[in-house]
Amino acid sequence: MGRISDVDVERVRDATDLVALVSETVVLKKKGRLFWGNCPFHGEKTPSFKIDPGTDLWHCFGCGLGGDVFGYVMRAENLEFPDAIRRLADRAHIEIVEEGGAGMPTGRKERLIAACEAAADFFHKNLIAGRSPGAEEAREYLKRRDFGIDVAKRWRLGYAPSGKDEMTKALLAQGFTRDELVDANITLAVERGAVKDRFFGRIMFPITDLSGRVIAFGGRVVGDGHPKYLNSNETPIFHKSSNMYGIDRARNEIVASGTAVVVEGYTDVIALAEQGIGYVVATLGTALTERHVKLLGRFAKKVVYLFDGDEAGQRAASRAAEFIDASSTPEAGNARVDLGVAVIPEGMDPADFVGERGAVEMRALIDGAQPLLRFVIDQRLSTHDLSTPEGKSAALNDAVQPLAAVKGSILAQEYVSYIASRLLTTPDYVQRALSGAHVHRPRSEAEEEQVAQHGVKAPTIDSNQARAEKELLRTVTLAPSIRAEARDLLSEEFVLDESRRVLLGWILEAGQASGQALFDSISKRDRNSAESLSEWLVDAPDVEQIEYAFREVSGRLKEFALERLILTKKAGLRALDAVKDATAYDGLFREVVTLERQRNALRTRMTQPADGRVE
Ligand SMILES: [Zn+2]
Repeated sequence: MGRISDVDVERVRDATDLVALVSETVVLKKKGRLFWGNCPFHGEKTPSFKIDPGTDLWHCFGCGLGGDVFGYVMRAENLEFPDAIRRLADRAHIEIVEEGGAGMPTGRKERLIAACEAAADFFHKNLIAGRSPGAEEAREYLKRRDFGIDVAKRWRLGYAPSGKDEMTKALLAQGFTRDELVDANITLAVERGAVKDRFFGRIMFPITDLSGRVIAFGGRVVGDGHPKYLNSNETPIFHKSSNMYGIDRARNEIVASGTAVVVEGYTDVIALAEQGIGYVVATLGTALTERHVKLLGRFAKKVVYLFDGDEAGQRAASRAAEFIDASSTPEAGNARVDLGVAVIPEGMDPADFVGERGAVEMRALIDGAQPLLRFVIDQRLSTHDLSTPEGKSAALNDAVQPLAAVKGSILAQEYVSYIASRLLTTPDYVQRALSGAHVHRPRSEAEEEQVAQHGVKAPTIDSNQARAEKELLRTVTLAPSIRAEARDLLSEEFVLDESRRVLLGWILEAGQASGQALFDSISKRDRNSAESLSEWLVDAPDVEQIEYAFREVSGRLKEFALERLILTKKAGLRALDAVKDATAYDGLFREVVTLERQRNALRTRMTQPADGRVE
């Protein structure tokens, strides 16, 4: 992939009007200087999504997301940063130059998508009007599943003829090159430069991106044959772990209902949607991944994994439990995503079930989904013999494992009590087992650091300190005038949290930059950090107020630092013998007294005139 120059990124950004872009899909209302609308990234009925047309930055105080125009497109269409630039460049008709383009040049991906679109049309025509026995058989098969021609048209289903290279020939004749077809994985290169169709003799399900453009295919064999299902391989436009079948159609209903249902079969998605249950998507021949959950979490508050009660389904649920992280806990507030599990009884698949029992029962099954954690814990407990002490102890260690990633949360506490009641033991006993349990996936770098510095029981930074650090960041973000003065605070002494300290440094280095310029300067280092500032950059209060807030918070941070120093010195005092180490003791004692005096003076200054009381 070529590198896009900063100049081009700026050209694209300057050519894009964020308000116009967002209003293509969101109803915006102007209130004062800002535009407001219902957030496209989380379900809501009253607007908490705001855009500042002055800076072209946005922020939602419901889900906490925010950023610039690129961040918006990345989330709205599930794109990586360079692809978001390319998409907006296309929209603004700007030609961008990509340096070192050993990979795919600009427009190349659009060509692959166009090839997939053309292939989808070819397959679709074949299914609807094909005269071959194979096409006839495909229509018969669909009819048996209650999918008539109207359903095939609505879902753009197709049939790949068994002629080995019919589709490839048709697309070459339309002007696509051999390489484009191979790169889109709809054609296979065979020996001596020959090519053949990737799919033949199969019913074709077009897989689309969030905007409904075809990027890949799933093919089901008609009759017997192997494999039963065949999906496109990964291509520059298709990634199994971050795309889902039906997401473009389901997304509005997911937002409206707050729920996303995940199934495994494409025909299940269609069958449920045809019965009026439209918030359903399918994974693409893989298990549910963390990226899927994140993708759905942008639209849904609750993700229900619906599967048949067979062993494979149980394994899939168990794997899904590995994604339980802080975003599933009550502490995540508005950003919380609940993961649930619903099991289809009696060996039916979701399409069978909705066909036999109807939509009402299906909805009831989905609504009655049990929490994924509860399901997985029950499953783990059920594999042990709870009547023996050995069995109980093994069950305990097994059952606390899924809680390891959310150890300190209210959610974990609830399940600790639950496991205790199941094992007829005390919550304390379960809690001890949980303390020793480790997360089975790599920790983030920041977490590793925390552990390395403080040992496993990382003491969390005192919340007053954390609040003051955030307030410091807010003030330096909004008021360039105080940045020179804030340099004094840029050290471990005053800002304990490493990532906040790094961010503070970046902001101070941005000189007098504000608004979009500040956002850009930070996003060149790290987009996430820049986005975390959007909350403040949109709708900034007046500078005088900020300067006042800065004086306050800087005093508070200095006070906290002194307080920590005093505590350390006092601990040193306790370790000394006032008689035997008299000289050292006296010296240290005087130091403590001086520090306390400084701290008290600082407090007096800060509390006046509102409250002159000093300890
Ligand atoms: Zn939101």
